[in-house]
Amino acid sequence: MGMTEGSAGRPRGRAACSRRGVDAATGRVPAVLMYHSISPCTEDPYRITVSPGRFARQMLWLRRRGLRGVAMSELLAAIGNGEGRKLVGLTFDDGYADFAEYAAGVLAGHGFTATVFVLAGRLSGENAWDTAGPRKPLLSEPGVRQLARAGFEIGSHGWHHVSLREAPVETVAAEISDSRAVLQSVSGQSVTGFCYPYGHVSAESIARVRDAGYEYGCAIWPFAETGRYALPRIYIGEADSSPRLTAKAARHWLTWGYRGPGATALAGKFLRIA
Ligand SMILES: [Zn+2]
Repeated sequence: MGMTEGSAGRPRGRAACSRRGVDAATGRVPAVLMYHSISPCTEDPYRITVSPGRFARQMLWLRRRGLRGVAMSELLAAIGNGEGRKLVGLTFDDGYADFAEYAAGVLAGHGFTATVFVLAGRLSGENAWDTAGPRKPLLSEPGVRQLARAGFEIGSHGWHHVSLREAPVETVAAEISDSRAVLQSVSGQSVTGFCYPYGHVSAESIARVRDAGYEYGCAIWPFAETGRYALPRIYIGEADSSPRLTAKAARHWLTWGYRGPGATALAGKFLRIA
């Protein structure tokens, strides 16, 4: 996080991050899990697929630790109210149709929600941006609407799945703003979240996402301006058994939970919770 001095004499990065509670006084960044496709399909060169059985066990892992998986908007609102301690953000990128078939029911069974980041320009399409691996169908308009009605949050993953760092300026505007307008119309929800394709974040794209009316942005890796518009996420794959989830939770907590010399002890405390 950039900790340059702002005009009020406070660290500017911290002030920006603390809007509505993210990364507030403690410097905490919420735990957000990143999924893509939930499917029995085993051909998976990009490691974006988690089998339904593994996914069910991962959700059970959260539940047994007293954690609840929630949509990003719910997570951020709860953190803003100081109530986010037992919540974990659940996100699903690309809007694969298999979410409705294999994930939605498992989540509902636990009382969990999630955010699905959909590509506005590829509704009923497929993952044509991937150069290898199987073609996977993406959610249709009625599919998106149905998920929204079932209480899942619909976020935008842009229009076509292009890197905003590499796209021309005109394209970037359409990817960010037009996708929001279309997805709001399709879902009937206010679309407040944007997810950067490929996790490619820049200061410029953050500013555009904010100006387009979004309230948060999901990245993958930590960015210099990590905060509510560039939230890092924890990649979850098929290999993530319970011990690996515990290790990933500990690593997240060590990195983002608290800063300073007490971090190790606090990570230990988290492990008892988790
Ligand atoms: Zn994607």
